[in-house]
Amino acid sequence: MRTRFGPAGRPINYKGPTENIPEYLRTEEGLDAFEYQAVRGVKISKDKAQILGESAKKFDVLLSLHAPYAINLASSSESTRKASVERLIRSLEAAKWMGARIVVFHPGYYGKFSKEEALKLCIKMLKDARERADSLGFKEVFLGPETMGKLSQVGSLDEIITMCESVPKTLPVIDWAHIHARTKGGLKSKDDYLKVLSTIEDRLGSDVVKTLHCHFTKVEFSDKGERRHRRLDEEGFGPHFEQLATVIVENGYSFTIISESPVLDKDAIVMKRILEQILRTKQQT
Ligand SMILES: [Zn+2]
Repeated sequence: MRTRFGPAGRPINYKGPTENIPEYLRTEEGLDAFEYQAVRGVKISKDKAQILGESAKKFDVLLSLHAPYAINLASSSESTRKASVERLIRSLEAAKWMGARIVVFHPGYYGKFSKEEALKLCIKMLKDARERADSLGFKEVFLGPETMGKLSQVGSLDEIITMCESVPKTLPVIDWAHIHARTKGGLKSKDDYLKVLSTIEDRLGSDVVKTLHCHFTKVEFSDKGERRHRRLDEEGFGPHFEQLATVIVENGYSFTIISESPVLDKDAIVMKRILEQILRTKQQT
């Protein structure tokens, strides 16, 4: 079992080139995952992506890529849907260059559609993206629809799992803060995490749940869902990483946990320490 930790984007005090981020994470901070942010467009060149990939391999840092925010697979405009598929394909291509395992993305918004219609549209567009990406040679990279925090967004746990059931080479990305915000504080105990995980296991299989790709941060929410991410040391906000860490240790999971906190890598280090502490305590008993 090995759970990996790392930031969503550049470490907050890091000033060097993107290609050297894996070295910094590994040698300065003891972290072993990095989610490259292509959230404002896939701009990285093939050369740079390959160098990043080589350095990630050398320093044993697992890479993932976050696709552009400007994706809406459920848009009522056909041209927006097509442009969204295009952005996914460009993301899969860059991910392949750097050897990233998964492309994380936000599926879209319900807009004028009913929830069922919006989900259907997302699945249709995703199938399209998957087929085209496979024919272009990007087969080995997974598509990772993320659980979303706002009630206006397609991305309940059930919807994300349904997408993964319907489209080949698609894995759920579990953003725990978003689940917490969407369910208005639903992650209160270890059992609440276990419920989510057993749902994934029942519907997608135990291999999927064992190596889940996750985002974790504390979150502030309103009636409409997610408001903003919070640091782990901020009181009065959930969810609590200790509960998830206990579940990970007790089940021997090998998750990848990406920190999206305002202090990115600093909170990734905090989470790693929490997990190691729980592991030590368990070994002593
Ligand atoms: Zn995201």
